[in-house]
Amino acid sequence: MNPVTYTLQGPVAVLTMNNPPVNGLGHALRSGIVTALDSALADPAVTAVVLTGGEQLFSGGADVREFGTPKSSMSPNLPDVIRALENASKPVVAAIAGHALGGGLELALGCHFRVARKDATLGLPEVKLGLLPGAGGTQRLPRAIGVEAALQMIVSGTPQKAATFAGTDLLDSVVDSDVVAAAVALAQQVVADKRTLRRLRDVKLPTAGADAFLQFARNSVKAAAKGMPAPLACMEAVADSVTQPFDEGLKRERAAFFALMSTPESRAARHVFAAERAAGKLPDVPSDTPLRPIAQVGVIGAGTMGGGITMNFLNAGLPVVLLETSQEALDRGLGTIRRNYENSAKRGKLTAEQVEQRMGLITPTLDYAAFKTVDLVIEAVFEQMDVKEKVFRQLDAVCKPGAILASNTSYLDINKIASFTSRPQDVLGLHFFSPANVMKLLEIVRGEKTAKDVMATALALGKKIRKISVVSGVCDGFIGNRMVARYGAAANALVVAGASPQQIDKAMERFGVAMGPFRMGDLAGLDIGWATRKRKAAEAGVPHEPTVADKLCELGRFGQKTGAGWYRYAPGVRDALPDPVVDELLAQYRAERGITPRKISDEEVVQRCIFALVNEGARILEEGIAVRASDVDLVYLNGYGFPAHRGGPLCYANEMGLFNVVRTLRDFAAEPGAFDWWQPAPLLLKLAEEGRTFA
Ligand code: NAD
Repeated sequence: MNPVTYTLQGPVAVLTMNNPPVNGLGHALRSGIVTALDSALADPAVTAVVLTGGEQLFSGGADVREFGTPKSSMSPNLPDVIRALENASKPVVAAIAGHALGGGLELALGCHFRVARKDATLGLPEVKLGLLPGAGGTQRLPRAIGVEAALQMIVSGTPQKAATFAGTDLLDSVVDSDVVAAAVALAQQVVADKRTLRRLRDVKLPTAGADAFLQFARNSVKAAAKGMPAPLACMEAVADSVTQPFDEGLKRERAAFFALMSTPESRAARHVFAAERAAGKLPDVPSDTPLRPIAQVGVIGAGTMGGGITMNFLNAGLPVVLLETSQEALDRGLGTIRRNYENSAKRGKLTAEQVEQRMGLITPTLDYAAFKTVDLVIEAVFEQMDVKEKVFRQLDAVCKPGAILASNTSYLDINKIASFTSRPQDVLGLHFFSPANVMKLLEIVRGEKTAKDVMATALALGKKIRKISVVSGVCDGFIGNRMVARYGAAANALVVAGASPQQIDKAMERFGVAMGPFRMGDLAGLDIGWATRKRKAAEAGVPHEPTVADKLCELGRFGQKTGAGWYRYAPGVRDALPDPVVDELLAQYRAERGITPRKISDEEVVQRCIFALVNEGARILEEGIAVRASDVDLVYLNGYGFPAHRGGPLCYANEMGLFNVVRTLRDFAAEPGAFDWWQPAPLLLKLAEEGRTFA
């Protein structure tokens, strides 16, 4: 396919970009634009040029398929293309529909005039990838909409609707439809009026009062950036648009762009961007696998998870049959869902009418017969195999053939659950995270017998309810909870060895996690892990050796919900207060085991907690539980508050160097009485030996 279509509308040459899906500015398209432009300039019958992506989409920016390849910077690079457009001797008009984002908007800024459909979105989101717009965006946008507005747009990276820019020099005209026709008409008008070509590079920005404003902006950006380099670099580049000549500003912008490219923060952000695109692709499930239609959903259990899960489907306009064991439990669950929606309405996020519409999509029931028509059922009842068994046997009896039967279990064996039915091919895990209506992550657990079209349907459904879906194989705790168990064990071992919960939480929060492990434990409830450890010991036929957390549970300290756990809590307040009772319990626990507490550095705290995650992540990968390393990172980033700027545990390990990670793990494993899971995973050893990374 030719990346640029060249057509004539009278004396106007229309260059239509053609690089699906988003007109990514890959090398073929870039050179196609320049070639087509040269033809138009050379043709004496052509008086003006329109550059467009047609009525659907202008350009989404760089071609992500070229990221990290030599093609991304091969000439003509984007600045070359923009220079050619800007220096053209005939008027060039951009006709923008859909999106003009990143390099797409920079391309439009190089044209002399711009027309956009009012619902088009315009933006420079590079900061979200830890970068700045590197093809003149920071120099031309301020010259089009003013320094303050441009700064806001570039530092936040948030795109805006075209209608917002009506009346600015960014857009000469905003139209309801037929943007190409409008651009052709404008081009002819410009020629007829003999208007001078407007090159944004020639605009001089006023310098009066600029210094004070820029200093003020610098302070606010610095405070909000929390140490991230990209927002500050964006700030300085925009400042250059005022204080430097255009060419110097451009030169500095390009240098800053390449400097940001090699920061760990940008590498992490680009890793996450690519990870989100890769997740949800299964090597053995073709992308054209026919999907099972999902028009009605069933949810069993209206507790913490069932209620949140239900809301996901209501929000997507899908009706839900919600089943409970008693009218009282059903009413309680419905009450919580309504309260959540009414709170959103109070914050202006929903209208009263929308609240009623969503509540109206629920059919509450106490009777399994109501599941006869549903296309998918998700079970969110108590975490006990015998309870799950009863539920799945009943579902097998009432659900129509082909209905998908899902469990929200956190740890239980999906293959075993599937065996309670006569249709294991229709069974899978859909593991939501709490609060299920808020958290972005969905682990889709693939059983041994789960059919391919069931996987494809679940992945499509995940998109529909706007989750980040990651596929996991069956193991205890799947990807996320299996890893967090090691993290918790590492943190617990640290308090036993001599650190305090406060020290560990602070060290991890400085590393960037949303909440340290002990505050997180108190929030989630310590009783869940206690029950799991007791169950596992019973399953393995060994006596249960209580951990410190278990000792806390034995005292009725389950965390925030009982007013005390690793910390104590004043009634109604979430602040974690240090508690001497815990210090005493720890001292006693150590004394009973003959452990002399030692001083532990914050660096060691971080290494132990994170490398425990990395090592388990590697095992998950080598066992084939996760399809790819970046899936492990996505789970941890979106389900467990791992700092986004570090790109996930495995991305962080790559940054640290796997060789170094292995050396440290070996040291931990060699200590007397060390857990055997400190032994470096074979995959990690192999990658480290070969000098490779998880990527
Ligand atoms: P919950 O106790 O808040 O809710 C369970 C609900 O199921 C209760 O309302 C109960 O009345 C109902 N119920 C019990 N047996 C039932 C049956 N036979 N038929 C119909 N309804 C029945 O528990 P939860 O926290 O919502 O957990 C539910 C499931 O989700 C568990 O498997 C749990 O492991 C999993 N999970 C929980 C979380 C979490 O953070 N709470 C996160 C992910 C997954």
